[in-house]
Amino acid sequence: MSQKINISITKTSKSRLADTDFDNLPFGKTFSDHMFMADYSDGEWKNFQILPYGEIGILPAISALHYGQAFFEGIKAYKHVDGKVSIFRPDKNGERFNRSAERLCMPELPLEIFLESLSTLVNLDRDWVPAKENHSLYIRPFMFATDPFLGVTPSASYKYMVITGPVGPYFSKNLKVKIETNYSRACDGGFGFAKAAGNYGGSMLPNLKASQEGFDQLIWTDSREHAYIEELGAANVMFLMDGTLITPSTRDTILKGVTRDTVLTLAKKWNVPVEERRISVEEVLKGIKEGRISDAFGVGTAATIAHIAEIGHNGELYTLPDPAKREFSNKLLNTLNDLRYGRSSDGFGWNYLVNR
Ligand SMILES: *Cc1c(COP(=O)(O)O)cnc(C)c1O
Repeated sequence: MSQKINISITKTSKSRLADTDFDNLPFGKTFSDHMFMADYSDGEWKNFQILPYGEIGILPAISALHYGQAFFEGIKAYKHVDGKVSIFRPDKNGERFNRSAERLCMPELPLEIFLESLSTLVNLDRDWVPAKENHSLYIRPFMFATDPFLGVTPSASYKYMVITGPVGPYFSKNLKVKIETNYSRACDGGFGFAKAAGNYGGSMLPNLKASQEGFDQLIWTDSREHAYIEELGAANVMFLMDGTLITPSTRDTILKGVTRDTVLTLAKKWNVPVEERRISVEEVLKGIKEGRISDAFGVGTAATIAHIAEIGHNGELYTLPDPAKREFSNKLLNTLNDLRYGRSSDGFGWNYLVNR
């Protein structure tokens, strides 16, 4: 680490650790003892502090609440078999953090501050990192505008915060997904590539409607024609067709996932042909019908590798091969788990140890 920042640490007087049921961890509902907070004003980041997790005072006029100048990241830390704790590829998230900030007219956060905030916080709450398979500490860094001003202009002040919490699997089953042909998550020239809060607010109604129709998730399509596959909910999507791994090429409507990059890197290492390109809905449905698609899954930090079992489109249901028998995605999941829990050597330098 090149630059050390001065973090003031106030520890909790009463840890909630002993009251936490680590055998029952629904995603995103349990939070660790501490949180990180920093302020931006007068053109610089300051007041780096770690505090007990809890309420923060904000004014009702802050522009994040009215105009959505807010975005986030999602990262996971794992407990290795030797007891060490490591964060998976946080530098990639730090880079994306700044791409989101730039699109929303928010200040850059130097990568050193980002990494130091994560490692100091996670190291302090290391006993919160679960050791169980498919469990991890979810890390949620975020930034929001704090000027109490009802004008649609970029705020001059911001908060950067990090909260964490132990999590189990995000999806408990194989997915039945619907190809969305009415609503859009993102549009050309918009900010789908940013992890902007507003992108997710807008996805809730389409998701709710799909769940009322019996689906677990949506496959988003392009906003112009609804003819091309873009993402799977809040994950990137991949198919294995005729032995080639295909995934939509990234563009301004698609989030450039870290897991996406991890999976493509592993596939290339295994000499599996990889194609990043436009993929039409028609190509996928035809591929399923003809038995040419042997695997289909979502990839994301929260979702990890999420098998797609069935795809619905215009009232028709298409069934994919039995997820339990899929060679590629199951090998991926096992390889990834071995890497992240420190059971195999990390030749890529993807594990970022917190107590370096
Ligand atoms: C977070 C997210 C992903 C997955 O990105 P990772 O970096 O792999 O976690 C994909 N799509 C959307 C819309 C997301 O919000």
